[in-house]
Amino acid sequence: MKCPFCAHEESNVKDSRPAEDNTSTRRRRECPSCGGRFTTFERIQLRDMIVIKEDDKRQPFARDKVLNSLRVALRKRPVDIERIEKTVSAIVRQLESFGDNEIPSRKIGELVMKALAHLDTVAYIRYASVYKDFRNTDDFNEFVADLQAIQLSTNDADIDFKVKKKKKPDTAA
Ligand SMILES: [Zn+2]
Repeated sequence: MKCPFCAHEESNVKDSRPAEDNTSTRRRRECPSCGGRFTTFERIQLRDMIVIKEDDKRQPFARDKVLNSLRVALRKRPVDIERIEKTVSAIVRQLESFGDNEIPSRKIGELVMKALAHLDTVAYIRYASVYKDFRNTDDFNEFVADLQAIQLSTNDADIDFKVKKKKKPDTAA
């Protein structure tokens, strides 16, 4: 890493530690030429990952969109942001592990659903209730907006009611 003070081509790592909840590595560096000290962060960057939407349109993968959809689903739920961030990192790692640079948006939706199922039941239901719309919309942002609209018109009691109302298959017949 080039020294930002004297532009010397190399620098020595003095200290290296996990940061931002293990999603990055913080390195303290020292320039052997001028003795200047600076810090670098190493993060996983999915710059080559492309999301393929249901209508075959493509867009670059954006971690923030996954984070945003989780935050919307978990609004006013007892799940702190640190846990949500951890979950997003886990989802990103899973996407990476597929080893394919082209990811169907459906796959991301499924991972978000799975994550929410572990995090918070109400948020899971919120997300699942609009999941079919998400699959048909050409814009992930539109999906988030739809989710917000549903949250404005649906409180937790309504969701509980819908769940209780769901009929079980009548196996006695
Ligand atoms: Zn230097």
